[in-house]
Amino acid sequence: MNITIDKNSDLVVAADIGGSNIRVALVDLKGNILEKEIIRTNPSRGIENAGYEISKIIYSISKLRSIKGIAYSSAGPINQITGQYINPPNLTGWHNKSLIPIIRDNLKIDSREFIKVGHDATLAALAEKQFGKNKGSNNIIYLTVSTGVGAGIISNGTMIQGENWFAGEVGHIIINPNGPSCSLGCSGCLEGNVSRTAIASIAKEKIKKGLKTNILDNHLIENIDSKIIFDYAQKKDKLSIEIINSVLENLGKGLASLLAILNPEVIILGGSVSEALNKFYWEELFEQTKRFSIPFYTTAPPIQMTTLGDDASILGASIIASQD
Ligand SMILES: [Zn+2]
Repeated sequence: MNITIDKNSDLVVAADIGGSNIRVALVDLKGNILEKEIIRTNPSRGIENAGYEISKIIYSISKLRSIKGIAYSSAGPINQITGQYINPPNLTGWHNKSLIPIIRDNLKIDSREFIKVGHDATLAALAEKQFGKNKGSNNIIYLTVSTGVGAGIISNGTMIQGENWFAGEVGHIIINPNGPSCSLGCSGCLEGNVSRTAIASIAKEKIKKGLKTNILDNHLIENIDSKIIFDYAQKKDKLSIEIINSVLENLGKGLASLLAILNPEVIILGGSVSEALNKFYWEELFEQTKRFSIPFYTTAPPIQMTTLGDDASILGASIIASQD
């Protein structure tokens, strides 16, 4: 496998590495995705295997066309220069390893300069700055509420990465002391209370304690997930409504805290939980954010849903791929 890098090309390859899926796309410099392939990540098969699969797709979507550069966004924590993972919770076994040398070897690229890497939420924030509704904004937070909770932060035009690449781990701010824990064990953090995983485990716990619900008429307790909770809240199931209300309250606290710390022009929400909230409960989320905000934000807290969908991180990667 061999690919041609040409700094004058107006095409880049951008990828997004998540715990469940890997997406690889051919993107032009205006953010148009021309081709995209999605494969399962299967972290347990090893980073070398993932790197080989990614290389094959890069080769197949870019051959016969020269590309300006390659970049990928990834779930973290990750060193955003070397690409080395730092105990990534959703990419088990990839600690201390990097995809960059693997892809470089497979595609026979001799300089690492051509493969860049960034944290997925940070690159999503960058994509919002360049292609989103708030184009040109220098103060943007992208908050993903999905399997986990994390943020990408652009403050005064700069991507905030932190001393050890852990900046933006806002899923672990404490909003409900002694409340449910996340997988890292911090009790009462945002992720432990509002993530997809949290919603499912809170529901199971409440049911085991004997709280009544109609969910069990149609589902086994072990199969309960956040989607079922959102569905049953719509069907007026009391337990589900109670859980969604606490998600709204706790997410409102998190959003209010982020506004107070960073004074962004806007917080943009993405991820499956945000999507479900946006569909049915946006007004309530707005009210809960106001409720916990400092006076400056109590009229209209600047929160929005992403308009870039699942492609935000890939588009962010395409931006750094095109930079010299
Ligand atoms: Zn936590």
